[in-house]
Amino acid sequence: MPVRSPIIEDGAVLVEDGRILEVGRFADLKSETCKICEHDGIITPGLINAHTHLELSHLSAACPGPKERPEDRNIDGDIAAWILNLLNLREGGSFEEKRSECAHDALLKMIAGGVGVVADIGNNLESVDFGSTAPCTKFFFLELMGISSSAETKTLKLLTEIPDAICCTGHGPYSTGVELLKKLKDRCRRQQSLFSIHAAESEDEMQFLRDGTGRFRTFLEERGAIDDAFRPPGTGAVAYLDKLGLLDADTLLVHGVHVTDEEIDCIVKHKSKVCLCPGSNRTLGVGTAPVMKYLDRGILPALGTDSLASNPTLDIRREMQVLMEEVPGLNPEKVFAMATLGGAQALGCLANFGSLASGKSNVLLVRNNGIKRNEIYEFLVTNGSMAEVEWLT
Ligand SMILES: [Zn+2]
Repeated sequence: MPVRSPIIEDGAVLVEDGRILEVGRFADLKSETCKICEHDGIITPGLINAHTHLELSHLSAACPGPKERPEDRNIDGDIAAWILNLLNLREGGSFEEKRSECAHDALLKMIAGGVGVVADIGNNLESVDFGSTAPCTKFFFLELMGISSSAETKTLKLLTEIPDAICCTGHGPYSTGVELLKKLKDRCRRQQSLFSIHAAESEDEMQFLRDGTGRFRTFLEERGAIDDAFRPPGTGAVAYLDKLGLLDADTLLVHGVHVTDEEIDCIVKHKSKVCLCPGSNRTLGVGTAPVMKYLDRGILPALGTDSLASNPTLDIRREMQVLMEEVPGLNPEKVFAMATLGGAQALGCLANFGSLASGKSNVLLVRNNGIKRNEIYEFLVTNGSMAEVEWLT
């Protein structure tokens, strides 16, 4: 998949009923029958958030603070502590009555920041409708989990009762039993839907999969959520999912921070997709994904924000900015491609979104102050939430 997008000076986009008919130079596209709207700025495709949890928007109190600089990290990768805090807030009923309202507001803010397509993960069926009136394309995935035999059996039964229209997916290799993971992937294959799963996010996850010990073991034991049914595979998360037969072109691996070179080979072999969440990874201090290695192997990751419980904002402009800060030498054009083309590839909606091309929707204007042509991509990916955007279609 080519990553390069040519920059057209004095460019124009010919649009009809919200869809692009043609893209080219204004001088070539203008005609007397067209209504002409002139803009000063950069016309780009809309951004794509390939992984978020809108239903956690009311739990922003679980987020360990606005970590704008690497030195602000104070969670030190202790995801179990963060999950525990999140569950306590959730189970304590904090702001539960505001769940729908907060999710809707979070989505509207995301759209105002230039996101037109969202992959939203939720654990509750009612979350399907969160933000349903907002002007964007939202793909919803009901996320299931259960790793002890009793929890897995209960969830497997629940799975048989969920309407076919709902896409179901698994939470992660450390929280979801083998049979449940396989059943979920089978269901996705039958329905030709995406199987999105958290994978290789933290070192604690790696330790738990390697030998069944560490913070995750303690955390699960304390909650009575694990028994002998779980056998540590003794591998990394991606190798484990591969061994279970869950990797293919419709599998989206979310986070992909702790992966070996062999596991990247495996992702390439199966044409699986990767979604990076640099903002959330920074907040939780779990490390930085091997972005250069992904790009070198021809993988164009998507970008996701994860939720407001682990990220101070659901803003893909900031995800691009964080990635540029975390990975010196990263090509800004590729980072912009991750937030657009990469997202569309990951979510299987390339025919409609992800670039400016005939037949596609979502055209964005990014305002700028007369920057030079060779600074355009740098400008698009380094200004974070300061970049002013306006929807054209
Ligand atoms: Zn997530």
